[in-house]
Amino acid sequence: MAQELLRVEHLSAAYGGIHALHDISLEVEEGEIVAVLGANGAGKSTLLKCLSGEKKFLNGSITFDGKPLPSKPYQVVENGMVIVPEGRQIFYKLSVKDNLKVGCCLRNDKDGIRKDFERVYAMFPRLKERENQYGGLLSGGEQQMLAIARGLMAKPRLLMLDEPGLGLAPIIVNQIMDILKEVNEEGTTILLIEQNARKALKLCDRAYLMNVGNIVTEGTGKELLADSTLMEAYLGQ
Ligand code: ATP
Repeated sequence: MAQELLRVEHLSAAYGGIHALHDISLEVEEGEIVAVLGANGAGKSTLLKCLSGEKKFLNGSITFDGKPLPSKPYQVVENGMVIVPEGRQIFYKLSVKDNLKVGCCLRNDKDGIRKDFERVYAMFPRLKERENQYGGLLSGGEQQMLAIARGLMAKPRLLMLDEPGLGLAPIIVNQIMDILKEVNEEGTTILLIEQNARKALKLCDRAYLMNVGNIVTEGTGKELLADSTLMEAYLGQ
């Protein structure tokens, strides 16, 4: 039987007087790819900020592997919830290799770290080729690959990605989706926020659709893709 990994219940969050999340509930089971979709301003990034411990929420609860989310972001990472942030946020003036080292800075299992370096370099040969170059010299797509690889170096059980396809050519977005599939098949559960609803729905097992701070519907990727009214109404696609 599938095991629940993440549970969000009745979550609300605000920026001053602006309520960004209203009573959000969702769950992610171990081994799933779950997408969260919605137009600009729907509250997707705010949800991820709450999940990563970066933003305090007003009401509700977040549990991971049956335990409440720790209060400090670094503890959230140590627990196995790792975010690949919007805009990649790689370190331009660090080499590719040093960017990856940042990803594993909370770990001290040397053998595991060495194996994970081999694993991410096998998954992203371009990063191996350019390991001594500044991160800032990579193309947009390569920087996104680096951001994902850095996330993997933290040894996530749940990898949470905020718009990994943003600003990238469709062919590169397809490559990223393929990589996420591979990461998932190797055992990492994925929570994906993505503007490109069609690509995300094709990849995911299940999805939640958000609109102005609420979850308006949920279903399997196939179900939501087939609902053209919904796609047009909320996603303009
Ligand atoms: P996008 O795809 O544009 O990133 P989103 O679905 O991720 O959109 P959020 O960024 O979570 O949406 O924003 C949800 C709401 O919270 C919006 O009304 C937004 O204007 C507001 N908001 C987000 N960040 C802040 C902030 N730092 N200060 C004030 N309001 C904010």
